Amino acid sequence: MGKITGFLEFERDDRGYEPVEERVKHWREFVLPLSEGETTTQAARCMDCGVPYCHGTSIMTGAPTGCPVNNLIPDWNDLVYRGDWEEAARNLHSTNNFPEVTGRVCPAPCEASCTLNIDDNPVTIKTIECAIADRAISQGLRPEPPTEKTGKKVAVIGSGPAGMACAQQLARAGHDVHVFEKYAKAGGLMRYGIPDFKMEKHHIERRVDQMEAEGVTFHYNAYVGVNVDAAKLVAEYDAVVLAGGAEKGRDLPIPGRGLKGIHFAMEFLPQQNRRVSGEAQVPGAEPILATGKHVVVIGGGDTGSDCIGTSFRQGALSVTNFEIMPQPPEKENKLLTWPDWPWKLRTSSSHEEGAERDFAVGTIEFSGENGHVAKLKCAKVDDKFQPMPGTEFDVKADLVLLAMGFVSPVHEGMIKSLALELDPRGNVKADTVFYRSSNPKVFACGDMRRGQSLVVWAIREGRQAAHSVDKFLMGSTTLPR
Ligand SMILES: Cc1cc2nc3c(=O)[nH]c(=O)nc-3n(C[C@H](O)[C@H](O)[C@H](O)COP(=O)(O)OP(=O)(O)OC[C@H]3O[C@@H](n4cnc5c(N)ncnc54)[C@H](O)[C@@H]3O)c2cc1C
Ligand code: SF4
Repeated sequence: MGKITGFLEFERDDRGYEPVEERVKHWREFVLPLSEGETTTQAARCMDCGVPYCHGTSIMTGAPTGCPVNNLIPDWNDLVYRGDWEEAARNLHSTNNFPEVTGRVCPAPCEASCTLNIDDNPVTIKTIECAIADRAISQGLRPEPPTEKTGKKVAVIGSGPAGMACAQQLARAGHDVHVFEKYAKAGGLMRYGIPDFKMEKHHIERRVDQMEAEGVTFHYNAYVGVNVDAAKLVAEYDAVVLAGGAEKGRDLPIPGRGLKGIHFAMEFLPQQNRRVSGEAQVPGAEPILATGKHVVVIGGGDTGSDCIGTSFRQGALSVTNFEIMPQPPEKENKLLTWPDWPWKLRTSSSHEEGAERDFAVGTIEFSGENGHVAKLKCAKVDDKFQPMPGTEFDVKADLVLLAMGFVSPVHEGMIKSLALELDPRGNVKADTVFYRSSNPKVFACGDMRRGQSLVVWAIREGRQAAHSVDKFLMGSTTLPR
């Protein structure tokens, strides 16, 4: 433990944001990092608790508290406090392949589990993580190629955080790893879903360069089950890992859904990310823009937030955000929730940019003029999500974005052609010990296995699947679980 009285001496201090009126004029990240001295002071607040709940899911109990990749948080807080940034970076990378990503976009369940969160004053863990990662990267991200090759070939399908983490681990274990990605660039939802203002894409490019130097081969525009034969991959490779995400968006099949101007979030967000990075749009895709429009975003999660921030930057006239769940409490009951992830009102930086939010709202009907959406008929809903009579209201809309989550992976193509067993929610069936599907040579991880989740869970699953694949190929493994 660094400074024994640190938590008594120093208040929590976290990264700020550029003012709204400035940040909505551009697409860059707008979080203002702490100085080195401020970060060191924040690290000094860590109490190195006897039971560090922040450190993550208990292997003994399986309790899902804290960091899903089991970052060794008290250890690197201490190293930062003592100024040993190099060892802190080595320690952080021993559990997390992409800490510069989680340091930007993770909701930080670690901070919810921090003992100092009992009085709303957790250590600024995510900020310290990001500072360690950014500092290490600015000094040069070194590839870690294997000393020996195994002669085994592994195909990883999908280059999101699960596929990238899995591929990196397997390449470092000496396997010849080939990543097949249906889009033109790597990153999955980190590239095409999460907007640049939350995470600029050069962070992904740098990791791709590192992975290529470690021996990973990326195959782009390679859509397995469409222009790459899935069964042939299974026959030709020693193991295949499916990390294709959960891409089937939840729809809202109500009257008027067929009107123009109503789109899934994942039709809207990737277009903007491609514009920012200068990538060509998908051929034939009609441009979807919020410029000069009244926008309604249906769904109050991360994806909804990203639609709001993107709409404001495109110059929307107004953005309204509806959530079907009731409004959570401003503050959780710590005795009931800590150290678990609490259900409480969360206001994202995008919400702060001026969105009108309402909760317990259901949409009954879309109506329009000349085939284009113009209005939503909504109502307040009861605890069974049924519209309550007498609460109906209309909202003007020129653009409606559906951000109500994802149902499952897409089954057509790869999954169907491999005839894989599915779990009751339609995800590829595989457990979290072996990550093996109903085909013994085929493994599954990330959103494709667990359903829609978070980057940090995808990294965890990618790493754990790599451990299992290495053991399957070699009989034993030194890769961490
Ligand atoms: C808009 C949005 C914002 C989000 N914001 C956050 C956030 O702030 N923080 C957070 O922690 N999480 C966030 N998430 C969730 C997070 O991005 C996902 O949980 C995570 O990316 C899942 O990783 P994955 O590798 O399993 O799948 P994905 O990231 O979905 O990657 C799957 C990849 O597989 C490719 N693929 C699919 N099928 C095939 C095939 N047949 N052949 C070849 N390639 C294929 C896809 O093109 C894609 O590149 C967000 C999600 C969305 C949609
Ligand atoms: S990865 Fe997420 S949960 Fe883990 S330390 Fe970083 S911010 Fe916290």
